[in-house]
Amino acid sequence: MFCGSKNDPDETRPNVNVCPVCLAHPGTLPVINREAVKHVLKVGLAVGGKLADYTEFDRKNYFYPDLPKGYQLSQYEYPLVSGGELGGVALTRIHLEEDTASSMHNESTNATTIDFNRSGVPLMELVTEPVIHSVEEAGDFARELQLLLRYLGASDANMEKGEMRVEANISVGKGGVLGTKVEIKNLNSFRAMERAVAHEIKRQTKLLERGEEVVQQTLGWDEGKQATFPQRIKEGSADYRYFPDPDLPSLLLSEIAEFGKEKLVSEIPEMPSQRRQRYLSLGIKSEDAGLYVRERKLGAFFDEVTALLGSGDSKGILLASNYIANDLVNLIRYKADKQPLVRDTEQRDADYQSEIPISARNFKKIIDLQLEGKIQSRSAKNILLACTKGAGDPVVYAESNSLLLNEDNNSLTATIDKILKGNSSAVADYKSGKAAALEFLVGLAMKELRGAADPIKLRQLLDNKIRPEKS
Ligand SMILES: [Zn+2]
Repeated sequence: MFCGSKNDPDETRPNVNVCPVCLAHPGTLPVINREAVKHVLKVGLAVGGKLADYTEFDRKNYFYPDLPKGYQLSQYEYPLVSGGELGGVALTRIHLEEDTASSMHNESTNATTIDFNRSGVPLMELVTEPVIHSVEEAGDFARELQLLLRYLGASDANMEKGEMRVEANISVGKGGVLGTKVEIKNLNSFRAMERAVAHEIKRQTKLLERGEEVVQQTLGWDEGKQATFPQRIKEGSADYRYFPDPDLPSLLLSEIAEFGKEKLVSEIPEMPSQRRQRYLSLGIKSEDAGLYVRERKLGAFFDEVTALLGSGDSKGILLASNYIANDLVNLIRYKADKQPLVRDTEQRDADYQSEIPISARNFKKIIDLQLEGKIQSRSAKNILLACTKGAGDPVVYAESNSLLLNEDNNSLTATIDKILKGNSSAVADYKSGKAAALEFLVGLAMKELRGAADPIKLRQLLDNKIRPEKS
């Protein structure tokens, strides 16, 4: 945030991405990272927050071995962004600070070692208003934030890599009055966050029901025990003795051209919520829309197919979406060793890393064949499968595999005559009222025609032949 050391969450060797500034050597001076400020301002614009005009960095003073300066550079009075809203959750503020080093305790040697690679990495802190009322809402909000950061290119926001961390504050209260809040730290996946929040709600509820008090404190989450545990009694902000850092200039953002609102807005792409809205307006299922927003490669493929179909072709778009969200996703999933879709691990990204194994143009041809009544839906699925395995042009494939529905009434009639002739007992059964006998005959005819016929039409033709008086 204030030096040129590399920010590499994949670095496994300790203490390699460090320099005198982030190691707090005497006489070193910090320099503000423009890109980090820009990213936070864009997040602020994307959530409709108010960008600061005047801003400054403050020293948050406390001692801890992972903080060599004895203070953390953060923002207190003048955060970069105030207010805003994301996924229906009101935001309080967004500010920028530097990360601390990470300390690791080794139980067997009873020694604590410190890795300064993370020391000084830019950290955007986003605080919400206390308006989230359930585990589900908390999970939805955190996932929406992750998507937003990815869309903006501000961060990959992988929780497993520590690129995004959640600190959940929970307070159980009565009659709309908030009780004492506790904060849970060290949550490194959405699942851990959801379990920890659920656990904490239960724990506080029990305490209150027994007439006991909730202590304001910071808790950790023990993944093994699936329980929270106390870390330290929470300090009040007064304890940190915040004051503006004398080594850094305060900023008047409106006077810095590259932080100009118009310029920043022009660099913001379509946001997840806008994208979701656009998909829903096409009339597709909300689960499909959610999938395309989360999995951007699938979304891009759907966009391509929609462009080919034309946005007015709602029937085609709906059919295409069904095949993409179900059949195509399954084909890709099976390709990736039948891995279930994992949402918030590195695997999530790998799932769609493999290219979508069919071009939008060929995919659209399959949709056209079915919409024009030339193939059955079963054939469409077979053609899709074949094309993802390199079958080439869907129309050529359908022709050469006799999947096109037989429009030739003469050959249909000839087939029906042949079937009726060879199955007189089934014909008699049907005449005497056994409906299943007709299905048997339809099946035989379908087989004879190698599936290239409309079963409804066949059923009608057979029925007319056997019971002409009914028609
Ligand atoms: Zn450094």
